[in-house]
Amino acid sequence: MGLPGYQITAIEEKDGRVKLSARYTGPIACPHCGGKRLRSKGRRTRRPRHESWGLRHTILELESRKWLCHQCGRSFWQRFPGILPRKRSTEPLRRSVAVKHFDGISRSRLGRREAIGSATVERWFQDFLRLRAAERRGAPCPRVLGIDEHFFSRRHGYATTLCDLRGHKIFDVVLGRSQAALESYLKKLPGKERVRVVCMDLSSPYRSLVRKYFPNARIVADRFHVIRLINHHFLACWREIDPVGARHRGLVSLMRRHRHKLKPEQVARLEAYWARFPVLRQIYAFKQRLCSLLLKKHRTRKQCARLIPRFLKAVHQLRQSGLAQLVQLGETLEAWSLEIATMWRFTRNNGITEGFHNKMELLQRQAYGFRNFNNYRLRVRIMCG
Ligand SMILES: [Zn+2]
Repeated sequence: MGLPGYQITAIEEKDGRVKLSARYTGPIACPHCGGKRLRSKGRRTRRPRHESWGLRHTILELESRKWLCHQCGRSFWQRFPGILPRKRSTEPLRRSVAVKHFDGISRSRLGRREAIGSATVERWFQDFLRLRAAERRGAPCPRVLGIDEHFFSRRHGYATTLCDLRGHKIFDVVLGRSQAALESYLKKLPGKERVRVVCMDLSSPYRSLVRKYFPNARIVADRFHVIRLINHHFLACWREIDPVGARHRGLVSLMRRHRHKLKPEQVARLEAYWARFPVLRQIYAFKQRLCSLLLKKHRTRKQCARLIPRFLKAVHQLRQSGLAQLVQLGETLEAWSLEIATMWRFTRNNGITEGFHNKMELLQRQAYGFRNFNNYRLRVRIMCG
């Protein structure tokens, strides 16, 4: 039966249903005072649904008694392990249904198979998630934390993801991405001083929050976001120079690639295009150098010291370029130069967080969207944690 203290007295099969008659042989005590001197006041039969045997539904038949406690004078209905008071199903059945739903069987399908309503499946599933979440409560802050934002709903706007980059799991999600929204959460977060490294995109509210609430953490810019920012500004700059060419799909695809990934005929195509706009050749080469510089990782302190002048020179060149987009990029990179330089020392980046965002989007679609952020948070914490 999967429950302790029962003795099965009869098994009967009828109309594809199994009836298990059982007797509880464990100790009985008063739930109010723990007293053992009891007198029987009456009896009734309980018939809770139990975990199915294959495809056959199972019903448990138990005799339950009402007892009077001589010690405290109160009376009570007997409790059974694995069956909560007033429930018409056993905990093993609820757990098995919740686990099946967790594994991807839809509510309606599961409800039809187990002959229960789909709302019941949902309710049992929520209970299951809450139990799992309670087990995880008080989990310590991860040492390497990734922070990123993602879209939650049109009504509530954005949410912030906190990801454990070492353990490859979601630590938490918080509604909002502004300083005010996150402040109250971070104030109460226990174990903040454990966090050593925080990886984030180039967003100033996040940076000031981390500086304030994670005293021992070093901030690392996220490589993916830095490269994306560079690509974005270079494309915008190209659009200003040649609006027609920058909208040509083939050319955009070629300009985005690394030099070593281009085939000879593709190089020839680019060269033919650059012959008309020589400045683009310089810009392309500059971007290649900048990206390869920023893609370096796992460097020692000494090696970093050699990379820093190269980076500062590139920033200086950007700011002196006279092209609005590149000047703006130079300014952003300068404002984040410390976090970007830290990037060379580490390999971790928010790629894991981005991957989880995909999974969270899937969760949202499976649920046809969430109205309640807490339901969403519960599900994300269990299913991505
Ligand atoms: Zn009692």
